[in-house]
Amino acid sequence: MIPEAMELCHTAVCNTYARQPVVFVRGEGCRLWDASGKEYRDFLAGIAVCNLGHCPKRITEVICEQAGRLVHVSNLFYTEPQARLATALVAHSFGDRVFFCNSGAEANEAAIKLARKYSFQRYGKGRYHIITMTHSFHGRTLATLSATGQEKVQKGFEPLVDGFTYVAFGSIEAVREAITEKSCAVMVEPIQGEGGVRIPPPGYLEALKELCLERDLLLIFDEVQVGMGRTGRLFAYEHEGVMPHIMTLAKALANGLPMGAMVATEEVAQAFDPGSHATTFGGGPLVSAVALETLRQIADPPFLEKVRNTGEYFLQRLRELQRKHPVVVDVRGRGLMVAMELRVPGKTVVERCLERGAIINCTQETVLRFLPPLIVTVDDIDWLVGQLDEVLEEVV
Ligand code: PLP
Repeated sequence: MIPEAMELCHTAVCNTYARQPVVFVRGEGCRLWDASGKEYRDFLAGIAVCNLGHCPKRITEVICEQAGRLVHVSNLFYTEPQARLATALVAHSFGDRVFFCNSGAEANEAAIKLARKYSFQRYGKGRYHIITMTHSFHGRTLATLSATGQEKVQKGFEPLVDGFTYVAFGSIEAVREAITEKSCAVMVEPIQGEGGVRIPPPGYLEALKELCLERDLLLIFDEVQVGMGRTGRLFAYEHEGVMPHIMTLAKALANGLPMGAMVATEEVAQAFDPGSHATTFGGGPLVSAVALETLRQIADPPFLEKVRNTGEYFLQRLRELQRKHPVVVDVRGRGLMVAMELRVPGKTVVERCLERGAIINCTQETVLRFLPPLIVTVDDIDWLVGQLDEVLEEVV
């Protein structure tokens, strides 16, 4: 079966992904193994998902324990794992209430609906526009692709959901100019992920919050990619000390099990009442138990400090490569969300790295993106830098 998996996927799965020709069968920590037994070091973590690595022992135990106890009952009833997870998310964040769902797009969908409903209750009809950023990425459902400021994501799906205005990421003036009497919220990734690991200028998030307060708009942070320790803080907004009204999470929340969450302040969250929003699987006991353990491990201050230190080391080693290889235009990142921008497309570099057993990614054509499990070691980083050094020599 395993050698045929690629062929079978080509015939039986919708052709929506450009995949690398590898069938993975096992993972442990920062390592993955393919069907032929070849070992890989993972610098992608399933796109910022397996932040504690692959199959960490305690997470596997929690999955097995909870799977043997209770998996699903619906949100018509209460379960302890959901209650404990919501309480923990509230304790660790600015928020007061949580809505659980199953993905990043769904978390953003919930945020968009909540912002509209809150505004409707306060101001009545017609105030539903949300300002988002160019190069942003918020998901692939119809509302979230409409929120996404990238034409390639929207093409062919028109008419889009009405009410999104896109402005340049990093420009507070652009947001100010875009506000109209119809605006109800501003939605932004604290660091753009799919957009190319773009870090806004210092003070940008704070200025956004001030502007939102001044104009009575809600501030929504999409922390789907940057949240859960990725940047060396539990949530990326902590770096700037700027708290949004709504935050969305998914990806690493349950270390690989599908889960999303929208966290909101009490005042805003009260706009949702029974019947406003729902999803069958949201916050089920299995994923909630796993997310609770994931959160417990990631929120540990020494763990986060290590992420910051390892991230600094990673950046420093990549800057050495930048000094050596003129094809490298920029190295940037925060925590273990790291990028190396090239003058040329990065596809060949990604393929050559894969041949050598290094899993990396490229976004926006020229930006090599590294999102390793947060437990990545200095040894792993040294090894990757060695591989990259040779590959960059080969391809340019
Ligand atoms: N928001 C951000 C910032 C993302 O990076 C992503 C996915 O890459 C999403 C939302 C969508 O998440 P999902 O693929 O779980 O729907």
